[in-house]
Amino acid sequence: MDSNIFWHDGKFFGIEWHFWKVIGWAGNAAFTARFLVQWHATEKKKQVVVPSAFWWLSLAGSWLLLSYAIFSAKNSVFIFANAFNWIPYIRNLIIHRRHKQAHTDCPGCGKSCPPQSNYCFSCGVKLVVKEPARA
Ligand SMILES: [Zn+2]
Repeated sequence: MDSNIFWHDGKFFGIEWHFWKVIGWAGNAAFTARFLVQWHATEKKKQVVVPSAFWWLSLAGSWLLLSYAIFSAKNSVFIFANAFNWIPYIRNLIIHRRHKQAHTDCPGCGKSCPPQSNYCFSCGVKLVVKEPARA
């Protein structure tokens, strides 16, 4: 058998593969994976959530696609489309981290309680609220 639907004429799925194609498709995979991660997190919690994994995958996807756009596609439209979108991804990761650090661990049950909570949402123990990390 000299051809099949996956591999024929030296191409996999009709795509001619080289290093930058792998980088570009890895970027596409990261962008696709982030939607699956976000969807899964939302279904699990039964409310709309954007986990930090979504922003990490967004960041990886945008940098991989930007590399592909600069070094292989060399297309100004494609380069511009990915040139700045990583900035809010990094900002969201920083905010995510600060929000997580602002949680208070309950001295009673050990649950992590949201910022500015006065009482544990789980056991009702009064929380000793720690000082904010920055003014
Ligand atoms: Zn508690």
